[in-house]
Amino acid sequence: MSKHNAIIEELVTANRILAHEGIVDSFGHVSARHPNRKDRYLLSRARAPERIEADDIMEFTLEGEPVDARGRKPYLERFIHGALYEARPEITSVVHNHSPGTIPFGVTGKRLKPLLHMCASIGHDVPVWDSQKKFRDTDLLVSSMAMGRDLAKLVGKGRSALMRGHGAVVVGTSVRQAVWIAIYLELNAKLQMQAMAMGAVKFLTKGEIDAIIGRQKSFSYNRAWENWCIRAGRKMQELDEG
Ligand SMILES: [Zn+2]
Repeated sequence: MSKHNAIIEELVTANRILAHEGIVDSFGHVSARHPNRKDRYLLSRARAPERIEADDIMEFTLEGEPVDARGRKPYLERFIHGALYEARPEITSVVHNHSPGTIPFGVTGKRLKPLLHMCASIGHDVPVWDSQKKFRDTDLLVSSMAMGRDLAKLVGKGRSALMRGHGAVVVGTSVRQAVWIAIYLELNAKLQMQAMAMGAVKFLTKGEIDAIIGRQKSFSYNRAWENWCIRAGRKMQELDEG
């Protein structure tokens, strides 16, 4: 299988996993940078993640222009993906979702921070992007490159960010890593709400987060990926890289 086809298969699987694990519902999306062209990315047409097939995956320029739409309608919020690939040459996958546990942290001023070993991957800080600050009253959707770039600027060198009243965005150096971070971002949010209801929370220290991230390699991602694939009814494909 060509690298291009392998990434398309990987994206179909990622969509199914995110849906099955409750990270996306009928909305939300996951993309991959084009394996042969750094200035393009691959993302499904506008469709519920659980229903996505290989033929739904479209190619886009970083500006969000479809390369060969063939009548397929793209997601309005595709600009999130292009802006992040533009700002972060090292990343190869982006997830955008509205996972429910993260929403309270975007609207209350309570910062989401890793408190569980498995959740260190969300990064030291999960900043909150408030579209209202720069773009005033909108429908909150990231519907232009200007909005995408503003969001990417807030993400900075980080791994995840929340979007006030809307959802979250996660970046990774592989599709598997981005899915992993998105899943553990939601888990951390749920656990943090439970912990905060009980009292003061001792979060992971900066050193602990660095130590855990240093150990997380494709071996860890693949172990979870195999399990998530089976749960989502997909076959795990062997890749050269995690
Ligand atoms: Zn959205």
